[in-house]
Amino acid sequence: MEIKIGKTAGFCMGVKRAVDECIKLAEEKHKIYCFGEIVHNQEVINDLRNKGVNFIDDLNNADGITVIRAHGVPKKIYEIAQEKGIELKDFTCPNVLKIHKIAENYASQGFYIFLCGSKKHPENLGTLSHCGNHVSIIENDDEDVFIALEEFEKSKIKKLLIISQTTYSMEKFAVVEEIVQNEIAKDVELVINNTICKATELRQMETEIMSREMDYMIIIGGKNSSNTRKLYDIAARYCENSICVENELELDVEEIKKYEKIGIMAGASTPQRSIDKVLDAIKK
Ligand code: SF4
Repeated sequence: MEIKIGKTAGFCMGVKRAVDECIKLAEEKHKIYCFGEIVHNQEVINDLRNKGVNFIDDLNNADGITVIRAHGVPKKIYEIAQEKGIELKDFTCPNVLKIHKIAENYASQGFYIFLCGSKKHPENLGTLSHCGNHVSIIENDDEDVFIALEEFEKSKIKKLLIISQTTYSMEKFAVVEEIVQNEIAKDVELVINNTICKATELRQMETEIMSREMDYMIIIGGKNSSNTRKLYDIAARYCENSICVENELELDVEEIKKYEKIGIMAGASTPQRSIDKVLDAIKK
């Protein structure tokens, strides 16, 4: 049996920095709060809880140093923290901060913004707060693009910026780009800024290459991790025997035995130890 692990599997730079810094703060025995789950991974969360980190969804519940995770937060969170005198440790990924700046800059120039990505994802909720009043979110399919185009036309604005969540699908972004370019009126100033981060792009590319080569693909990641879900979608497209698991306990060992070439890939919020446990289970 050949087992191949993706070179880009596991924590990305932004997530690693946020998790490492949070652990460091907890170990310094500060009373630490974290605004939202630091990563979409239950093992990491439980570990940090055991180290004394309190996870909160409402800043009113913070009573000490509060960590901002890699996804970033809406602008109003900084205002609330300042009003309440809460000390923030901001580990928003630099790639996310870059998108906030782009959105802010174009919104101030009167651009309408199409933001590709999930309507509910915390990263997009943060970005949304920098987009001004003229913005549409394009979540999934072509229909979303046409709805966004209708809203744009109704606004009578003649400047349009397209950006995306850092973990959006490269393929979907290309589709959005194509539809908009085909449908938009000639007198519209169109700026397309593909803000999918490099780590996401490389991971998606590697998943596609591996999925074409392997008989069986295992994608490891949290159930609510959107980048893990996208990797699974890519894998399932090119390898019919693809599964997505949160940990080694969810593996179907009897099924795996049927295959010669096993590929393992993991989302940006999956710790190395989860990958190692899956690998050990397969080897056993
Ligand atoms: S996926 Fe990209 S943008 Fe998001 S935290 Fe990781 S490196 Fe930063």
